[in-house]
Amino acid sequence: MDGKKLAEVVRGEVALRVKAFEQSYGRVPGLDVVIVGEDPASQVYVRSKEKAALEVGIRGRVHALPAATTESELLVLLASLNADPVIDGILVQLPLPGHIREIPVLDALLPEKDVDGFHPANAGLLATARPGLVPCTPRGCMRLLASLGVSLSGMRAVVVGRSNIVGKPLAGLLLAQNATVTVAHSRTRDLPSVCREADVLVAAVGKPELIRGDWIKEGAIVIDVGINRVAVPGSDPPGRTRLVGDVCFAEVRERASAITPVPGGVGPMTIACLLENTCIAAEAREARRRR
Ligand code: NDP
Repeated sequence: MDGKKLAEVVRGEVALRVKAFEQSYGRVPGLDVVIVGEDPASQVYVRSKEKAALEVGIRGRVHALPAATTESELLVLLASLNADPVIDGILVQLPLPGHIREIPVLDALLPEKDVDGFHPANAGLLATARPGLVPCTPRGCMRLLASLGVSLSGMRAVVVGRSNIVGKPLAGLLLAQNATVTVAHSRTRDLPSVCREADVLVAAVGKPELIRGDWIKEGAIVIDVGINRVAVPGSDPPGRTRLVGDVCFAEVRERASAITPVPGGVGPMTIACLLENTCIAAEAREARRRR
């Protein structure tokens, strides 16, 4: 499954949606991204989100705060973004520096502007199968599955990983499509046997190439969410690294009917779905304002 290509399709759809929104409301949707500190990987992510937003016509803005910012200073900024009528989506880049607590920060966002879908109100809406903002990576996974054109109804889905940002919301989305869902985690006994039951297997673990070829049922669909940087053995010059997923691609592709690569699978879909979430948030806010 080519996530890069599908992400281009999604971004094209979003660009059309942004144009229609502008025609209706005389402004474009606005996405504000907040980053605290100088973590280089987070800075790259934030810049790529801003660039992707601008490319589809969304007004993107980054608030880069110094590492010494206090939790209360961050909360003051978030309150002002919540109150600003031209901001439709707010995203706080994680992880935050150790002296800032994640829960009060995520809880401070207005749920209707929470385009990452991490606010407990949005998590609750997803858990009760009601419309809300859905986390971007699970949305991207579902869109990849939808692109295969197969019904998930009655399929056995195994999600390895139970984080609040990937595993749990994805399990909810698969359940909403009538899959029979198992969520596995670090305490699961005999993970290979659990994985062998799966018609659809999603790996969101953060362990390089954990899932091996002989864990896969013949013909299964495999989605690899993991992004792990590993050393290239014997590289010249030494010290080179490459990205691998949680799935051993070379082995698993021999048995799977479809598989996402790393990089170029779920990663590009996450950003495309963030842009889509910003449009959904903007349209919903304008619709509410006019009710
Ligand atoms: P977390 O670390 O929050 O969660 C990892 C989950 O994997 C936990 O539930 C943990 O179990 C489980 N786990 C850990 N080790 C094992 C094991 N040996 N066997 C079975 N389960 C195990 O990670 P995230 O959900 O945030 O991310 C997962 C991966 O996805 C990472 O590689 C991350 O970089 C990547 N990612 C990729 C994105 C993308 O855009 N493609 C976006 C977000 C994440 P327990 O709960 O018991 O500790």
